[in-house]
Amino acid sequence: MISIGVDLGYGDTKVVGENGKREKFPSRWAPQENRDWGMGGNATVLSINDEDPFVFGENATGSTVREPQGDGRLSDPDSYPLLAGALWLSGVGGSDSTTSIVLGSGTPLGTFEHEVAAAREALQGKEIAIKGGNGEVKRFMISRMVMRPQGVGAALYLLEQGLLKQQVGFGLVIDIGSRTTDVLTINLKNMEPIVPMSFSIQAGVGDAVTAVGKAIAKETGFVVPTDIAREALANPVFFKQREVGGPKVSEPILRALTSKILDKLRENLREELDRVSALIPVGGGSALIGKKLEVLAPGTLIDIPPGDVQFANALGYRDAAARSQ
Ligand code: ADP
Ligand code: MG
Repeated sequence: MISIGVDLGYGDTKVVGENGKREKFPSRWAPQENRDWGMGGNATVLSINDEDPFVFGENATGSTVREPQGDGRLSDPDSYPLLAGALWLSGVGGSDSTTSIVLGSGTPLGTFEHEVAAAREALQGKEIAIKGGNGEVKRFMISRMVMRPQGVGAALYLLEQGLLKQQVGFGLVIDIGSRTTDVLTINLKNMEPIVPMSFSIQAGVGDAVTAVGKAIAKETGFVVPTDIAREALANPVFFKQREVGGPKVSEPILRALTSKILDKLRENLREELDRVSALIPVGGGSALIGKKLEVLAPGTLIDIPPGDVQFANALGYRDAAARSQ
């Protein structure tokens, strides 16, 4: 059976298909209300089981945009179009027959039991026919769901890659996401998560994006779109022919985000920090500030290939799904 890993993040939905194909898109969708003006357009329009058509990701804009009410909430009806979008982009499935899949996914540790039951109820055993605007149909049957806590997905992927060794001490998976930074502590001796040492910090890349947007507006008088502000965190950006942002603007902002995360980690872990033997920054934000977390436990930072950090959980979920067969 085919295994697919899906990480339905607050900010971005990540999918890893059977052949390792990776895709991501912003976690939002909107009903497709526009009439066809014959201009072609290149937005992917989908419908599920012949219900109302919708657009997703970058193409979903305007007042009718919907997003899931939480991270990894597979059972939320507003997650369903995102899951369909992910399956559509996974490169798996065709119209000739129904493709049975094992869906690997995850949800925060804090609400794990509850959410897993709800996700199974909503999705397991379900058939889903996804139709594209061009009339193409892909039929899927979710034969089984394999769920892991967020962060465990990333750890599984690192184990698989040989980047994380079984050893004495704690591994800290620090998942720097769009709204929150989620810390999962793992006992590296037996690879079990330690629930009392796992927690969520209310800080993420989104805070830095907002701050960069404000800094740019203050300097230029332009209110730039979020997508441009996000870009300005890492690269010089131009708006109306003018360089308005980039690393110089974002440097103090990212430093402030890093301090906040470091403070919360120290506050929550205290002397247990001495027993940390692997620091594992993952999530999109780790591309920006992951290396700065090394001060917590010098010499223990695990360096993940830059292209993999945002997909670490999704990659692990797919491994988990594949191993379960
Ligand atoms: P979530 O899981 O909360 O949806 P992600 O971990 O997917 O969040 O991504 C967090 C943020 O990091 C996103 O806003 C994304 O745009 C940003 N991001 C992803 N990759 C990079 C990168 N290479 N450089 C800078 N920012 C990135
Ligand atoms: Mg995430």
